[in-house]
Amino acid sequence: MAERRTIALIAHDKMKDEMAEFASRHRQFLKDCKIVATGTTGGRVQDAAPDLDVTRMKSGPLGGDQQIGAMIAEKKVAMLIFFVDPLTPMPHDVDVKALMRLAILYDTPMALNRATAELLLPAIG
Ligand code: PGA
Repeated sequence: MAERRTIALIAHDKMKDEMAEFASRHRQFLKDCKIVATGTTGGRVQDAAPDLDVTRMKSGPLGGDQQIGAMIAEKKVAMLIFFVDPLTPMPHDVDVKALMRLAILYDTPMALNRATAELLLPAIG
């Protein structure tokens, strides 16, 4: 049996509602995937779609982004969906840059907004 794809989900601040809604709306597709997520995002996704297989890392500010970055470096992530809140100031800036750099380096498909996530998700097959 083919290994299930791993999708990484991270949402900052006010983008968590959007991520929960996105995951719930795509749960037919996502239930055939493994999901890894930062702590709070993963909890919100699990509440919105309890049938999904969600592994929660540490919360982002406590290192969860870096844990997902390590998985990207090991080529264990098929796609990263990263909803950064554009209306908050800089606190997450270093995390955003570090994760984007790894996704670019390891040529991992990455969606930074919902429109791109909608296009990419079916494309990863
Ligand atoms: P969280 O982490 O899902 O635990 O909130 C994301 C972040 O804020 O970096």
